Amino acid sequence: MKAFAVDLGGTHITVAVVEDRQIVASQTIGQPPAAGLRPLLPLLAATLRDLSNCSTRGITDVAGIALGFCGIVDSRAGRVQSTNGKYPDAAEIDFHSWSRENFDLPLRLENDARMALMGEHYAGAAEGFQDVAMVTLGTGIGSAVMIEGKLLQGKHGQAGSLGGHVPVVLQGRACTCGGEGCAESEASGWALPRLCQSWANFPQSELAGQEINFANLFRCAASGDPIAKAIQQHCMDVWVATGVALVHAYDPELLVFGGGVMRSAEVILPYLQAHIPGRVWTPWGKVQIRSARPGNESALLGAIPMLSTSPSDVRTNVR
Ligand SMILES: [Zn+2]
Repeated sequence: MKAFAVDLGGTHITVAVVEDRQIVASQTIGQPPAAGLRPLLPLLAATLRDLSNCSTRGITDVAGIALGFCGIVDSRAGRVQSTNGKYPDAAEIDFHSWSRENFDLPLRLENDARMALMGEHYAGAAEGFQDVAMVTLGTGIGSAVMIEGKLLQGKHGQAGSLGGHVPVVLQGRACTCGGEGCAESEASGWALPRLCQSWANFPQSELAGQEINFANLFRCAASGDPIAKAIQQHCMDVWVATGVALVHAYDPELLVFGGGVMRSAEVILPYLQAHIPGRVWTPWGKVQIRSARPGNESALLGAIPMLSTSPSDVRTNVR
């Protein structure tokens, strides 16, 4: 099967042509404008057309468009429910009509972390597993859960999606969701600059003179900067707490961590593997902890199972 995949992330949009277990071609459309998503739709359509021209058969053998969105999505209704500040107009956009008018193709919409979990289940770390929780560490912290092979949706389409908004610090930092001390407001891409600026003696850190992002934080920590090391430790402890919460809430046999922050997986993964299993009550055995495919590959590959199955059900064999 061949499909168009669109990953609408917090700081990037990636479009791709995927075929079975391969990303045939992909392109990233830079920084999304604050004005919203609607002004970007013509560029999105043009980029998909350009990519499809890589194939001699154009879009004639494309099964549909799978779109992952960084907010609360009701995939059964096929609409964005809430955007938490990113792409504020998304809930008003009829993506299905856009797809029909531009390509005459069916479209499936899903939360981006769920799309990533579908990709990992189809062709990644979760292949062969039926009970999985996934955490995506990026601009925000996303999560998705599969139980007995079925992607969790819940009454309002948000079950398993809000692992990044589990409170992990009492009286912690204010979050965009209305809560405080959420994993996302303590250790996500958008929260990191604020975290650093409020850290004791931060101006003495090597990181203070640089753009504050996780790549630079991990680099400064690796070079021995004690303040960067302490901030890195705080963030990894937050991610451990998130993993513990998901294990206790959903009883997975496997936790998958993905997203752009996992570019530092060589530091993060061993820490998670060392600290999560000892803090969870799993009398049946030891929960496995793995890292996802690099970058947003998992979300893009999720396009194939999304378009192969009915919404919320990935049990069908799509190989
Ligand atoms: Zn929150």
